Amino acid sequence: MLSVEQTLEQILRRVNPLEAADIPIMEASGRIAAESVLARCDLPPFDNSAMDGYAVHSTDVRNASATQPVLLRIAGRTAAGQVAGATLKPGECLRIFTGAPMPQGADAVVMQEDTETDGDWVRVLDGVRPWENIRFRGEDLKIGAEVARAGQRLTPQQLGLMAAAGVETVSVRRKPRLALLSTGNELVHAGQHLGPGQIYESNRVALAALLQGAGAETTLLPMVRDRLEDLTALFAEILPQFDGLVSTGGVSVGELDFVKEAFQSAGGQLESWRVAMKPGKPFAFGHAGRTLFFGLPGNPVSAFVTASLLVLPSVQRWQGATHLGLRRVSAQLKERIVNKGDRRHYVRVALGADGQVRPTGPQASHLLVTLAQADGLLDVPPHGTFEAGAWTEVLLLP
Ligand code: AMP
Ligand code: MG
Repeated sequence: MLSVEQTLEQILRRVNPLEAADIPIMEASGRIAAESVLARCDLPPFDNSAMDGYAVHSTDVRNASATQPVLLRIAGRTAAGQVAGATLKPGECLRIFTGAPMPQGADAVVMQEDTETDGDWVRVLDGVRPWENIRFRGEDLKIGAEVARAGQRLTPQQLGLMAAAGVETVSVRRKPRLALLSTGNELVHAGQHLGPGQIYESNRVALAALLQGAGAETTLLPMVRDRLEDLTALFAEILPQFDGLVSTGGVSVGELDFVKEAFQSAGGQLESWRVAMKPGKPFAFGHAGRTLFFGLPGNPVSAFVTASLLVLPSVQRWQGATHLGLRRVSAQLKERIVNKGDRRHYVRVALGADGQVRPTGPQASHLLVTLAQADGLLDVPPHGTFEAGAWTEVLLLP
């Protein structure tokens, strides 16, 4: 049986980044930059006022105070979007507003709150240091500086920076197209009557949300009964149309578990079918031409955890991401966790307001409530114990 790392390596060997195309940055949130993106201008592009007030020669008003105000003549006025024409002479000031370019000659801005106006004159009631209240050209970012690295996921805050730096479009790789398949005679859609022995199908919904969140385009296939011929026909039809096919259920060793056989009958090559982890031991991986096949177990927690650890990194790699997998944070354990088994256990944990983590409750792989309550997974080694108070690394669920 392969380890999680070996399985992931085997999978990622087959994932090649998809084609790239330019898209407007307005549509690029959550996408992965395919190339490094450079600033088109300095930021700020020019020296400008940080305040509403008066642009001055700082030497004129260095010693100004409420008891010894300095009187300056208002030579003009400039607002954001305007450019002051004349050079400021000593003894003069320029009415200026936040974001307006600094006039030639001025080397500070007195804030409005420290002044009193009197017709064409202003009384300055407080001193300023040279360069006070000025925002300097290029202090935030220089023209040509990198505003996004190739392989970086574009966050809203980063897109704001890119827009400010004059970037209009960004090259991103296409979203991988994934088909989601659920198999099981017992499965029915939500909204339908639940007959004897039936359960509502839930894996496709959870997996679609998980994988879309990582940038995949997902297509839900109709539910399939546990019949080898039906499964084989569907595999043969679907495999050529997608970058990946993710199935759940029917991948174990039961008499009605036909997924592996159907995949192979449809021309697929199975590379592995078990992984040493809990939940999620039955996990099949293979390829059919350039389409990858992920055969996930049916138990909802097993399906979700294997998808998070083994499918999600592929979705990221297809888009050219440099960082693969769930984000990790370190957190202190609130209670002791023991893994008595001989497979590593991904324990569902919740992150408290105090920053500590604790298991969400019973961990059997059919229990959805403790999965829904989880903020992350804690990777506990076989026969391992984590003591209360220990610092551990948590894999954050989306
Ligand atoms: P299997 O892997 O097909 O043996 O299924 C294992 C368990 O997961 C069984 O209890 C199934 O009823 C359940 N199961 C399988 N597929 C789904 C699904 N799509 N949604 C919810 N439960 C499922
Ligand atoms: Mg089944």
